[in-house]
Amino acid sequence: MADLDTTLRELAQRFEAAIAAARDEHALDEVRIRFLGRTGELTVVRRGIGALPPAERPTAGKVINVAADAMEARLAAARASLERASIDASLSDSIDVTFSGPPARRGMLHPVRAVMADVAHYFSQHGFAIVLGPEIETDANNFDALNIPPDHPAREGFDSFYLRPDLLLRTHTSPMQVRAMRASGPPIAVIVPGKAYRRDAVDARHLYQFHQVEGLMVGPGIHFGHLKGLLTGMMRELFGPAQDIRFRPSFFPFTEPSAEVDVSCPGCGGAGCRTCSGSGWIEIGGSGMVHPNVLRSVGYDPDGVTGWAFGCGLERIAMKKYDVNDIREFVENKPAFLEQLA
Ligand SMILES: [Zn+2]
Repeated sequence: MADLDTTLRELAQRFEAAIAAARDEHALDEVRIRFLGRTGELTVVRRGIGALPPAERPTAGKVINVAADAMEARLAAARASLERASIDASLSDSIDVTFSGPPARRGMLHPVRAVMADVAHYFSQHGFAIVLGPEIETDANNFDALNIPPDHPAREGFDSFYLRPDLLLRTHTSPMQVRAMRASGPPIAVIVPGKAYRRDAVDARHLYQFHQVEGLMVGPGIHFGHLKGLLTGMMRELFGPAQDIRFRPSFFPFTEPSAEVDVSCPGCGGAGCRTCSGSGWIEIGGSGMVHPNVLRSVGYDPDGVTGWAFGCGLERIAMKKYDVNDIREFVENKPAFLEQLA
C-alpha cells in the first residue's frame, strides 16, 4: 500500500503540473486522456490492482477511485476557469470600458433668454429689483395709468389683442411701472423682463409676441443723466466697451421728454446697410422721464420725485448681439440655428 500511495502522490503531482500548463480546453482534454483515458496513467495503476494480494485489492480500489474523482473535479474546475477567462477576454475585445462615449447634447439658454439674463444681471448689480408681472393686463394699467386715455390716438398705434373690453394681452412691459409704483413708495428702482403682444404683421423685424425689458427709477433728484449712464453701461456690458448709444428725441405719452434709444448697427458698424436702412443705427427701445401724470396716477407727487423709464426689445438686442438679421429665426425652433449661437 505504501507503494500505491507513493505512486498516486507522484501521479497527482504530474497531473497538477499538466493542468497548470494547459492553456485551453483542448489541452485539458489531452490531460484527461493522459491520466484517465483507456491507457491513461491512473487507468494503468488501476489495472495493477489485479497483481495485489486479494486482501489489499478493495482498499486499493477505493483509494484509486477517490484519486480519479479528485482528478475529474480538478479538470472540471480548470475547464470552468478557462471558460471564464475566455469570456472576459472576448468582452474586453468588444467593450472598451475606458472609451468615452458619444458626447451628450448639452442644453443651453435660448439667445433671447440669455440676453434677458445679462440685462437683469447688469441692473441687479446696480441695485435694481427684478420684478415680473402678468401678461394679461387691465386696459387701465396698460393705457390709462400711463397717460393714454381711451380717446388717445396712441392706443391705435399699439394694435392690441383684447380679451374683453377691459382686458388685453399687455402691449408693453410698461404697465409694470404702474404696478411696481403702487406696490411701494418712492424711491424705487426695478427692472421688468417679460413678454408683450401686439397685432403686428410678422416680418424680419416684428413678431406679435416678443420680449421687452422695462426699467424704472423714481426718487428725489433722479434725472436723465442716470438713465443715459445706466443704459450706456448696459449696452457696453452686452456689446463691448466701444459700443455707442444714441438718444433720439421722440414722443411717448408716458414720458416727457422722450427719446428713442439706438445702438450702432451690427451689420455695418455704423456705415449704413440694409439692416439699418442705411442709417448706421438700430432702434432697440424707448425711454424718457416719467410723465407727471403717470406719477400722479399712482399717488406719487411729481413735485417731490422724478424718474425715468425705458423699455427695450430683447429680440432686437439679441439680433445685434448674435448678428441675426431676421427676428423670426428666434421662434422657429431650429436646433442648428440655436446651437450655433450657444
Ligand atoms: Zn447697418
